[in-house]
Amino acid sequence: MHMKKVFITRQIPEVGIKMLTDKGYQVTVSSKDRPLSKKEIIKALKKDSYDAVLTLLTDPIDKEVLEAAPTVKIFANYAIGFNNIDVEEAKKRGIFVTNTPGGGADRVAEHTWALILALTCRVVEADLYMRKGKFNGWNPMIFHGTKLAGKMLGIIGTGRIGADVAHRAVNGFGMKIAYYDVKRNDDLEKNYQAVFCATPEEVLRQADVVSIHVPLLPSTHHLINANRLPLMKKTAYLINTSRGQVVDEVALVDALKAGAIAGAGLDVFEFEPKLAKGLAKLSNVVLTPHIASGTAEARHEMAVLSAQNIIDTLEGGRPTNLVY
Ligand code: NAD
Repeated sequence: MHMKKVFITRQIPEVGIKMLTDKGYQVTVSSKDRPLSKKEIIKALKKDSYDAVLTLLTDPIDKEVLEAAPTVKIFANYAIGFNNIDVEEAKKRGIFVTNTPGGGADRVAEHTWALILALTCRVVEADLYMRKGKFNGWNPMIFHGTKLAGKMLGIIGTGRIGADVAHRAVNGFGMKIAYYDVKRNDDLEKNYQAVFCATPEEVLRQADVVSIHVPLLPSTHHLINANRLPLMKKTAYLINTSRGQVVDEVALVDALKAGAIAGAGLDVFEFEPKLAKGLAKLSNVVLTPHIASGTAEARHEMAVLSAQNIIDTLEGGRPTNLVY
């Protein structure tokens, strides 16, 4: 009998690998503890006749890669986003593409709140001040933050994560919600009196904090750009935990330098892992290294979901988290 073979592009939590080996599959994990280049992925896939590939969001899976792996039935992405895979091309070839939608959405919402609070309470700047020994007694004039209660949170993209961020905003912080999405979110409108805006511009004009939760698509590339940033209030903060390319990062640095907005909290970067010139020098930004879903629980869940998607496919079924 043909032994089913799975290639995993980088080490993931053992639980996912064990699910696959328990099924009797032969599992090969890349030995390099770093993202593979497209060339390396092609080379690895050509080494054997794999039935399934477990990919990370850093793996570019385009037409050329798909062509190099004619026996592969599924690319199971270990991520909620799947902009690294040419889904249309995979679909055309009858290859499944899956993601891990349950894995870490609540954690991303929590991380979004960590960034909002770090900025509005000025936690990072104040921490640095303490460490530098600058604190010389209580002073009513230092580190004035921004109160959130009663203020407007603008959400762009109210799917799983955006809606969770909204829920916490209303229940936890007494904020109001304005949102833009290509489809209306009846639950948010009904449960949280969220105000639907027909354009992103409308959200940007009225929000005190703007948080981005759209997938990276041609329609969302540079959704926040040099034309839209000046529409934001000078006192407003921009938060991005979605994908770096949704924000024109060079335009954002210019806006921050010019004081066009008050600050930014970013977990994702346009030129990842590089930062746009000048970004790291600004004191009104809080930066984290794409860790918004980075808890042991979320990583475990993502390993289980991606392995299960592979098992469902290789056992002849349809995977639960098919993205098309
Ligand atoms: P989701 O699919 O549940 O929600 C996305 C929402 O965006 C949907 O409501 C959709 O209608 C809306 N949308 C799509 N195109 C749009 C457009 N052009 N304009 C406005 N709205 C648009 O996805 P989710 O689970 O909430 O995740 C959102 C994104 O967060 C993912 O695609 C992923 O890129 C990112 N993410 C980042 C991390 C991280 O570690 N920083 C972790 C998980 C997910």
